[in-house]
Amino acid sequence: MKVAVYPGTFDPVTNGHLDIIRRAAELFDEVVIGVLHNSAKTPLFSVEERVKILEKATQDIPGIKVVSFSGLAVDFAKQCNAKVIVRGLRAVTDFEYELQMAQTNRIMAPTIDTTFLTTSLEYAYLSSTTVKEVARFDGDISKFVPEFVADEIHKKMKK
Ligand code: ADP
Repeated sequence: MKVAVYPGTFDPVTNGHLDIIRRAAELFDEVVIGVLHNSAKTPLFSVEERVKILEKATQDIPGIKVVSFSGLAVDFAKQCNAKVIVRGLRAVTDFEYELQMAQTNRIMAPTIDTTFLTTSLEYAYLSSTTVKEVARFDGDISKFVPEFVADEIHKKMKK
């Protein structure tokens, strides 16, 4: 069985992430989405909330599992019996960082490879950070995230 992991912060998941998830699900038997618990960052949503949101957003896609993890992506991949780490590439700016990460990971774990899926053009501009920024100023985020995610963001911002 071909298993891949797709690690990220997903704070919150956007239509860009979901596009990568859908396409990865076509390529692998199972895609484990790893929601990173990073104590150095203060995300808008807790790791439990991010997992729940991702589960709901991916419920119609077969072969998807959502779990939280902390630590190194390569260790997470090994725990999941995955030989592949999937990452999304939006622009040249992503490339430099992603290349460095992939090469570091390869030295740490030579049996695990990184696969990049290039973003569909309509999502090339999209990031969780921009979505939160627009929402903070009460802008319309309905084109960027699923409807229920937009509701969750607005609820969170009101608190
Ligand atoms: P991280 O903090 O690890 O970058 P993110 O949740 O921001 O986590 O992103 C996880 C992965 O999804 C990364 O590989 C990122 O490049 C990719 N990604 C983010 N936004 C998009 C998008 N709009 N289209 C395609 N890939 C994306």
